[in-house]
Amino acid sequence: MEYKPVIGMEVHVELNTASKMFCGCSAEAFGAAPNTHTCPVCLAMPGALPVINRQAVENTIKLGLALNCTIQPHNVFARKNYFYPDLPKGYQISQYELPLCLSGYVEVEPEGSGSKRIRIHRVHLEEDTGKLMHVGSHSLVDLNRAGVPLMEIVTEADIHSAAEAFAYVSKLRQLVRYLGISSGDMEKGAMRCEVNLSLTDPQTGKWGTKVEVKNLNSFRAVRNAIAYEIERQAKVLDGGGKIQQVTMGWDEGRGITVLQRVKEGDTGYRYFPEPDLPPLNLEMAWIEELKTKLPELPDTKVARYMSAYELTPKEAAILTEDQLVADYFDSVVKAAQPYPAVTPKLISNWLTGELFRLLGESNGEISQLKIKPVQVVALIELVNNKTLNQPAAKQVFGVMFETGRAPQEIVEELGLQQISNSSDLADIARQVILDNPQPVEQFKKGKETIIKFLVGQLMKATRGKAHPQLAEQLLREQLQK
Ligand SMILES: [Zn+2]
Repeated sequence: MEYKPVIGMEVHVELNTASKMFCGCSAEAFGAAPNTHTCPVCLAMPGALPVINRQAVENTIKLGLALNCTIQPHNVFARKNYFYPDLPKGYQISQYELPLCLSGYVEVEPEGSGSKRIRIHRVHLEEDTGKLMHVGSHSLVDLNRAGVPLMEIVTEADIHSAAEAFAYVSKLRQLVRYLGISSGDMEKGAMRCEVNLSLTDPQTGKWGTKVEVKNLNSFRAVRNAIAYEIERQAKVLDGGGKIQQVTMGWDEGRGITVLQRVKEGDTGYRYFPEPDLPPLNLEMAWIEELKTKLPELPDTKVARYMSAYELTPKEAAILTEDQLVADYFDSVVKAAQPYPAVTPKLISNWLTGELFRLLGESNGEISQLKIKPVQVVALIELVNNKTLNQPAAKQVFGVMFETGRAPQEIVEELGLQQISNSSDLADIARQVILDNPQPVEQFKKGKETIIKFLVGQLMKATRGKAHPQLAEQLLREQLQK
């Protein structure tokens, strides 16, 4: 049977604040020696008291605003009680009844379908746990990560396929990067996903039993685990079986979901307000101020590129995917203002074509790019004023990419100036005709396509520097004589 999947997601995102959520330890502990970023607070020594990290609250509000949420002025941190060796206090400070952000939405573009709105249930702030490492029969604990600020973003059950989940996670990562509040690097654990998935009975329309899948630590894992779990549940239902309410893990190596534990509800955590922290009351003026300070977000940028620069939705999406690329594009457009013929469309073509190709080939980063925005403009100008033909321009761009030198300088050094002088080219055209009597004969008998061959010969004779349209025109004139 065809079952409609119903999926909700919980994504944890580590914030890139300087210090941890409730103490002064450095939160940038990835790759540091174990237990070197710790203090009495995050080691849970008796009598140590937490203090709220203002920057973490600010960053979470920014994401809430970007996700169109309502920011709650009255907040309370809560203790989530559970015993686990990577949690030294025996509880995690989180938010329960009163999270920072409620009821938002985000627009995503799943591959192969149009735009889709996914509602956000809540965004709350908590602290990360430590990490366990299992060595033989022992377990070691590293508490560098314990207390790092962590946001949890919970969607409504609005996702209906692996592609939509993938688009949602991509959008979330794009937003935290635009806001500059997290690296969003899944491979470094800065972003971790869980899904709740059930299948709807096609006859009754009723939602089935929810299964939770944890440990989705890459984009591929999100996509594959959901596809796998949809198929697994469908098989169970088709066979007349029942879905158990369980928590599964994703085994990346085997490409399957595996049973972790039978699910217990929230009640197991015995949440209660954190007695060591006062309620967090936010001033509306602060929230309003943060709203005005938000950067231009991807959706707005895409709309601007399409309306102001007449780019296609696809071009706009490619240019805005990474904020650094968008910034670079913006600065080239700005540098091109005195040159109306250097249009945003032409700039977009060069960046998404040649530049992306060269970056891809060299495994380069846009942040390390040697080409200055004015140099891109100068190169396009050289094409526009017919100094360079397209293949020569690409060659020059390659050298610019390698060296960061100005295009005019490279053109002169390599002698790539296009020959667009009619009398020079006419002489060469005459010679090409003399040298190729057979093709010329064929052309005169009506084999029209042979002109391409003759143009090719002329380009060869000029080492690729002839203006191709002019070359063809001159050849035709000579042939008609
Ligand atoms: Zn600490």
